Amino acid sequence: MTTFKKFCKICKVIEETAGSLDMTSQVSELFSIVSTEELPIVTHFVMGEVFPAWSDEEVGVGIGLLLNALSKSSGLSVKQIEDILRETGDIGKTAVNTLSKMSKGQATFSSFLESQSELSIRDVFERFKNIAHATGKGSQTSKIKHLQYLFNLASVEEVGYIARLAIEDMRIGVGEGIVRDAIAKAFNVSVELVERGYMLTNDMGLVAVTAKEGGDEALLRLGVEVGRPIKLMLAQVTPNIETAIKDMGIVAAEWKFDGARVQIHKKKNEVTLYSRRLENITNSLPDLVTAIKKAVKADSAILDAEAVAIDENGRPKPFQEILKRFRRKYDVQTKAKHIPLTLNLFDIMYLNGENLIDLPLKKRREFLVSCIDYSENVYVANQVITSDLSILTDMYEQALKAGHEGIMLKNPDSPYSPGKRGKNWLKKKPVMETLDLVVIGAEWGYGRRTSFLGSYALACRDPETGRFLSVGKVATGISDEQLAELTELFREHIISESGTTVEIRPYILFEVAFEEIQKSKNYESGYALRFPRLVRVRDDKSVEEVDTLERVEEMYRTQRK
Ligand code: AMP
Repeated sequence: MTTFKKFCKICKVIEETAGSLDMTSQVSELFSIVSTEELPIVTHFVMGEVFPAWSDEEVGVGIGLLLNALSKSSGLSVKQIEDILRETGDIGKTAVNTLSKMSKGQATFSSFLESQSELSIRDVFERFKNIAHATGKGSQTSKIKHLQYLFNLASVEEVGYIARLAIEDMRIGVGEGIVRDAIAKAFNVSVELVERGYMLTNDMGLVAVTAKEGGDEALLRLGVEVGRPIKLMLAQVTPNIETAIKDMGIVAAEWKFDGARVQIHKKKNEVTLYSRRLENITNSLPDLVTAIKKAVKADSAILDAEAVAIDENGRPKPFQEILKRFRRKYDVQTKAKHIPLTLNLFDIMYLNGENLIDLPLKKRREFLVSCIDYSENVYVANQVITSDLSILTDMYEQALKAGHEGIMLKNPDSPYSPGKRGKNWLKKKPVMETLDLVVIGAEWGYGRRTSFLGSYALACRDPETGRFLSVGKVATGISDEQLAELTELFREHIISESGTTVEIRPYILFEVAFEEIQKSKNYESGYALRFPRLVRVRDDKSVEEVDTLERVEEMYRTQRK
């Protein structure tokens, strides 16, 4: 059994380490000393996760609830703790400062003061599980009690990390890349196989245990499984259709539907649907579940599709309308009537016990077509295989005329590469290129907008260090109604506040258009956007999909030509 205190000591060292090689060594050391049972837990903990991203379980603790728990544990008021948070700018330090301010008279907290905790890693995980399982009426009180329990038992070294884990923001700089390399180092396995395992299972904890127990061979055996989402294959932009033909020779072209991605898992009569972020969205989409049960003639299958909301004229409704369906937790049937969805299937990764991802697209397509009964709202996307520019240009124009985004140009001989944005899938869209940037901060408004968050600070990612680098702010393109929606959306991701400035956990992406990219000393990236405007909220995309500094630099260079 490893104590949570030991885990926290290592986290502290990692937090104070700058280079990613040294960090990898420390994480690898951590993976080697914990037991096999503890390994998946620490794998997630170091990345600031309690459960794997795809799991239905979520901690469900926002900053408000956490401050409440700290207030109950310390006897300080929420207001006083908010002041500490403003000063420190970090919930971990806030928890330590707050609980250090307790009077010694409060007997229950003596363990904190004397640092006698013997919490194990497993104890902390089990408590978080209890927190996650507290739902419905009285759940807030129950979550607070569990947090208090942890705070009461924790030592000064542990309190900060418990607070950070509660809101799933560890701040020690460990991301997927470091964890991947650390697993390879700790268990002497190939980095590529760790990466492959992660793309297929979407679960670093499982990959770590597999590497530890069975090495490279076991990693190779990791496969696709119904009920465990696979990372999605992604597309690169192509400047024009000619380039795509030149690169691929012959292309498999489909419409690029204006909708939202859905990964479909079917086993017997059970259907599970995952969003682009690989969150389980089955309960929000009962109409699609029924339609899939009817249309998919397979015992088991994993399929890739775009869900589109069609209006009375057969044209796609705005993307935000679809997301309303995806996010809906109650009254889903009414919403299903208001915003009916159509599914356009374009790929298949698994069929009746067979993993198909290594087969070429044209072969997968045969399997896809063979297992679908066309129905009212489930289609296989039309596909044309050609190298004829005029046919493709025509198809592109048809797609735009029908209100869709453009076309996808795919290599017919390519495998399904989970999690890869490679050259085998290209997208051609007419709109000016935009950037997908992550929101890292905001400002409370003034006048009639005091209760709304506006002026959002944006960041791209430095691919070398994994750090987010600021690249400007966006305040235009946001309606009053949207401002209210966004304030609600971001409220649970607020990390700290200072005056009217709010720091936000990097979680939600904005697609931003702009007039130009300029060099700038005001932002960490070294660039700033001129006249940025919000195009849409990409809360279907995960934070790993944020555009990189390289892309910003490349756009800067190409605009100058
Ligand atoms: P983007 O979101 O701009 O990176 O473009 C890729 C997205 O286009 C995918 O994630 C899908 O959600 C969507 N899409 C629409 N139609 C297709 C299609 N026929 N094949 C693949 N992706 C598609």
